Amino acid sequence: MVKAIVGANWGDEGKGKITDLLAETSDVVVRFQGGANAGHTIINDYGRFALHILPSGIFYPHITNVIGNGVALDPAKLVAELKNIMAQGVPAPRLIVSERAQLLMPYHVLQDGYEEERLGGKAFGSTKSGIAPFYSDKYAKTGIQVCDLFDGDRLWERLNRAVELKNVLFEHLYHKPALDVKTLYDQLLEYRELIRPYVGDAVGFLHRALREGKTVLLEGQLGSMKDPDLGIVPMTTSSHTLAGYGCVGAPVPPTAVRDVICVTKAYSSSVGSSTEPFISELLGPEGDELRRRGGDKGEFGATTGRPRRVGWFDAVATRYGCMVQGATQAALTCLDVLGYLDEIKVCVGYEIDGEVTDMFPTTPRLMRAKPVFETLPGWKSDVRGVTDYDALPANAKGYVEFLERHIGVPITIVSTGPKRHEIALRPTFSL
Ligand code: GDP
Repeated sequence: MVKAIVGANWGDEGKGKITDLLAETSDVVVRFQGGANAGHTIINDYGRFALHILPSGIFYPHITNVIGNGVALDPAKLVAELKNIMAQGVPAPRLIVSERAQLLMPYHVLQDGYEEERLGGKAFGSTKSGIAPFYSDKYAKTGIQVCDLFDGDRLWERLNRAVELKNVLFEHLYHKPALDVKTLYDQLLEYRELIRPYVGDAVGFLHRALREGKTVLLEGQLGSMKDPDLGIVPMTTSSHTLAGYGCVGAPVPPTAVRDVICVTKAYSSSVGSSTEPFISELLGPEGDELRRRGGDKGEFGATTGRPRRVGWFDAVATRYGCMVQGATQAALTCLDVLGYLDEIKVCVGYEIDGEVTDMFPTTPRLMRAKPVFETLPGWKSDVRGVTDYDALPANAKGYVEFLERHIGVPITIVSTGPKRHEIALRPTFSL
């Protein structure tokens, strides 16, 4: 059976930690979308890691980790990350890179940077890791699959076709140097040797694993708000961040997905640019304090180091985020962070053109939304590391249960610290 761990919000909800926790009792962990443009923070007995492309099951010797066909595969980054974790004492992991995955090429990274430069002040705040050009090429059918690396003539032909188009753009739109096909071809052959030991038939492997009764975890990157269809268009990423896409990008059959665990933080954080609507944002010294206290090292992007925007919990966005994921359970992370507050606000509605709604709107309406808050009492104590839900202060439990009522999904996991076992499972939790 399949369980998906996905984000309800803007990403950085703490999915890495929850995946790491549930991986203990799983057989396979799969990345099914996105690339190395976001990171999962995992703190375990080997140390602190920010994984960008490797699945979070990589620390367990019993797990097979899969990079599915839906991922934007940057082979150089993959190999660097593998070397890095092994240098920190992690045993060589079991890893399958789907032969159907497509390659994030050096020209995707260049194009991303050129486009941001061209847009100037109107840029999307891309991480410039090539993700948007990569997925554009995939849907324009000019992408290069991992399997193409093992057929020289085909690779040469596909590369020529892609570069012909890129060079028109690079020279005439961006006024940048043209790409040289032979240099790229040689570089790809080097990548091929680096990833050769891991390349395999992920589709066959996953279907076989499910037939044998194995448990497969789908590990999402970013969150519902960043989905290119159902998120805050166009301030999204370029691959689907929803559990449903795991059926294509892993792939697993839709009928095999039993559980969708939506991860959300006890407050809001978003790494997006300042032009993005972020309704429950906390600005000024209050925001600075939450940012400084947030996560395990303050709220700064795991990949980019950018300060994240922070705010009160947004129940409107989270309810919608859980709904479009098809959440069966929710995991609430970073409850420990809020212990310093006298009062805690929760955004329970959006006021748009004089009317209050609790339904998350489309972007033009979202741009005009103002938060409607309810205020709850804080618990003014340190709950870091509490593993027994009943042992939490009454106001902390009151806060969790208030959020649960508003998002409409049972909060079965409450995380009380960044470390693996700093977690309280509620009786409603089921594996
Ligand atoms: P992901 O992309 O969803 O995996 O999230 P990130 O790893 O980017 O961000 C989550 C941050 O919160 C990381 O710094 C984690 O170490 C940290 N974190 C996760 N759960 C908790 C928690 O319960 N309490 C605290 N204080 N930090 C947490």
